[in-house]
Amino acid sequence: MVYSIGESGSVLEKTFILPDGPLLEVDDLHVEFHTRDGVAHAVNGVTYSVDAGETLAVLGESGSGKSVTAQSIMGILDTPPGFVTGGAIRFRGEDLLKMSKKQRQAIRGESIAMIFQDALSALNPVFSVGWQIGEMFRKHRGASRREAKKKAIELMDRVGIPAARKRLGDYPHQFSGGMRQRIMIAMAIALDPGVLIADEPTTALDVTVQAQIMDLLAELQRESNMGLILITHDLGVVADVADKIAVMYGGRIVEEAEVYEAYSAPAHPYTKGLLESIPRVDLKGHELHVVKGSPPNLLNLPSGCSFHPRCRYRQDRCVTESPPLHQVADDRRSACHYWEEVINDR
Ligand code: SF4
Repeated sequence: MVYSIGESGSVLEKTFILPDGPLLEVDDLHVEFHTRDGVAHAVNGVTYSVDAGETLAVLGESGSGKSVTAQSIMGILDTPPGFVTGGAIRFRGEDLLKMSKKQRQAIRGESIAMIFQDALSALNPVFSVGWQIGEMFRKHRGASRREAKKKAIELMDRVGIPAARKRLGDYPHQFSGGMRQRIMIAMAIALDPGVLIADEPTTALDVTVQAQIMDLLAELQRESNMGLILITHDLGVVADVADKIAVMYGGRIVEEAEVYEAYSAPAHPYTKGLLESIPRVDLKGHELHVVKGSPPNLLNLPSGCSFHPRCRYRQDRCVTESPPLHQVADDRRSACHYWEEVINDR
């Protein structure tokens, strides 16, 4: 890693010398929650990776394990009740799960950063936004107050906050939802992380602001070549920005594919159901499709394929045999016994 040094000897910029291999790899991750009612199997052998400059969209309903996987990557899982019980999370080849608490703290923000759905509760209401952005530089890089203020203005400009210098002393409640999300993005990218995890970053925003935030994330990613993990339940949001998708259900990845392939011919009934649930203006008058039924109970997952109670392709074998992740094509996997039938059913 190469650093550039600021006026007070603080580290203001960094450049990584990249080793070969994926930037971030989640490998056979298992996470459990120990509750009074029993053990909830929240993440059951999740494997995915993201490279520099690549966008991976992780999709699925609430409770599918997508956010718990992200929290495990960040090292912010509530323990107890949550426990990582197996697998590895490698960043630039080093397993984060084998690092000390201090090492992981150093990685957070510097190398991997995260933005959350609700900017208002993620930001501190009693400090100005300029102070909160500047703190990233004071705390992590030892910047002086003057340097931190200058960097905060630069970042607020970069994420499109008008009159950044004037608004530096304003508090989170004085900004609109979209502007607060921009402030959180500014904090997340402050230290030039290699990977940015965006957990439902647009869910709380109206549609036009959603598009602006997605455009901003894509632009920032192009500029800095970050790996971006976009967590969402909305396939419509990711169609234009993602390179590949990982669809999660019941704590497992059920389909992984390049975005165009998954959208044009899904290889898992759940992905197909999610795609059919996107409202389409050209189908005015048609009933909106929904994936019937409820997400599985993680305390007591269904036998066999955990999607079988909701699956219209189900056959007897699905109730007893859990499908492995079949290699459907290069860079494409599906956890369905009948993936060929699903792909060909147009
Ligand atoms: Fe449906 Fe069976 Fe495929 Fe599961 S394995 S998704 S139940 S067809």
